[in-house]
Amino acid sequence: MEKFWNYIRICHVCKRYELVSTSLLCDSCKNQLLHESDLSQKELYLDLGFTVYNWCHWTEDNDPLLRPIIYALKGGYLKQAIYELCTEVSLHVSEAFQNQPILLPAPSKNKNQKDHAYIIAESLAEIFNLKIINAFERVNTSALQKSKSKNQRKLPNLKLNSDLTLTERKSLLNPENNLLFIDDIVTTGSTAKHAFNNVNKHYKFSAFSLFYRPLKFNDD
Ligand SMILES: [Zn+2]
Repeated sequence: MEKFWNYIRICHVCKRYELVSTSLLCDSCKNQLLHESDLSQKELYLDLGFTVYNWCHWTEDNDPLLRPIIYALKGGYLKQAIYELCTEVSLHVSEAFQNQPILLPAPSKNKNQKDHAYIIAESLAEIFNLKIINAFERVNTSALQKSKSKNQRKLPNLKLNSDLTLTERKSLLNPENNLLFIDDIVTTGSTAKHAFNNVNKHYKFSAFSLFYRPLKFNDD
């Protein structure tokens, strides 16, 4: 009985029960998602000084499809779903991972916790056989976050992780290494830009996000 329920899931988008092949979506929603990904330009030039790769653009048109998926992934506990998604990603954005980059996940809110960006990085590391360095930690901006003026948002929101080993630091600064910053969503790229600045604008730096949100819409 227990086994049976392991194969029945509610699709996070259409809320239908289905015998599913993935742990997040029914086949019909999955195919829609893959279609959206196919329409997206994978390499973005946002004038940041490095390339941003992405898998799927999150727009007003596909918002009803993508929002429930993104919110489910943000929970961070859907490890299996993230792994499945990253397997799809690996088929469509392989150029981002070709040069054996070291993966640098966006830092989690709580330093000792692995959140969604880290889980995405872990999945990609496994699929492409890559190394992860937990290179960054958040700058404590709790006082600043209460007030959301534009100027304050531009303040650095991350810095180098104070727990880095000497070997890790050397790896980050080694000009031979390719570095790939990993996040779930990129909008303006400002977090990735702060990461870039923290590794001394390493010239083999690029960023990858599952989703790129070109325009702000209905933001809550
Ligand atoms: Zn569905």
